[in-house]
Amino acid sequence: MVRSRDWVESTFGRFSWREHPTRRGAIEILGEWQRRNIVSIAPSFEVRSGRGRPLSVIYCHRLIAPALSRVLGDLAARCLGHLLNTFDGCFVPRHMGWDPRRRLSRHAWGIAVDVNARLFPYGSPARQDERLVAAFARQGFTWGGDWRTPDPMHFEVFDLAQPARPLEVLVDGERVVSGFLHEGRAVAPVREIGEALGARVEARMAEGEIEIHTPTGGHLR
Ligand SMILES: [Zn+2]
Repeated sequence: MVRSRDWVESTFGRFSWREHPTRRGAIEILGEWQRRNIVSIAPSFEVRSGRGRPLSVIYCHRLIAPALSRVLGDLAARCLGHLLNTFDGCFVPRHMGWDPRRRLSRHAWGIAVDVNARLFPYGSPARQDERLVAAFARQGFTWGGDWRTPDPMHFEVFDLAQPARPLEVLVDGERVVSGFLHEGRAVAPVREIGEALGARVEARMAEGEIEIHTPTGGHLR
């Protein structure tokens, strides 16, 4: 159960790219697509990278950000956060399997996520916890563990269950950054907006605070 490249491009956009000059299998996305479409979400519980570092943000396509947030929120609400041992990447501009001879990975669009990679490597028949698979499935993600060559770490968007509406933020008529509308609220990157207004933005993720130092010396919280 995988979507066609046409569906991916018509839903999430087309971009031009070239091979990364030094990193084999990685690509560089050219033009404005990345700035307009890739957003960050903050996990609602502690999530660690494959290297064991806490992740304060996850970068993904803006149209899947609400669904991915709901997966994490759902796991937290069911006390199942421990099923997500490591978060091994979402938006990663690269070819499938880091192999330049293969097609572009869905990770290049920021619409797939890899989790628990060490326990569930590519090709392994091991099955992720059914409750984790179900949490992703409820939000429209299909699981790579069922593929002919299983990729059990991999989940990718199949349906945009409750699609987010795109949002463009303009400052004095100039497009600054993209976000999305979700449940009646605008979600957009604070740093880009603050900096477009000439402010210095300090993110203290551990404390759950973002401080904006305005150019005039006062500050907003
Ligand atoms: Zn993957």
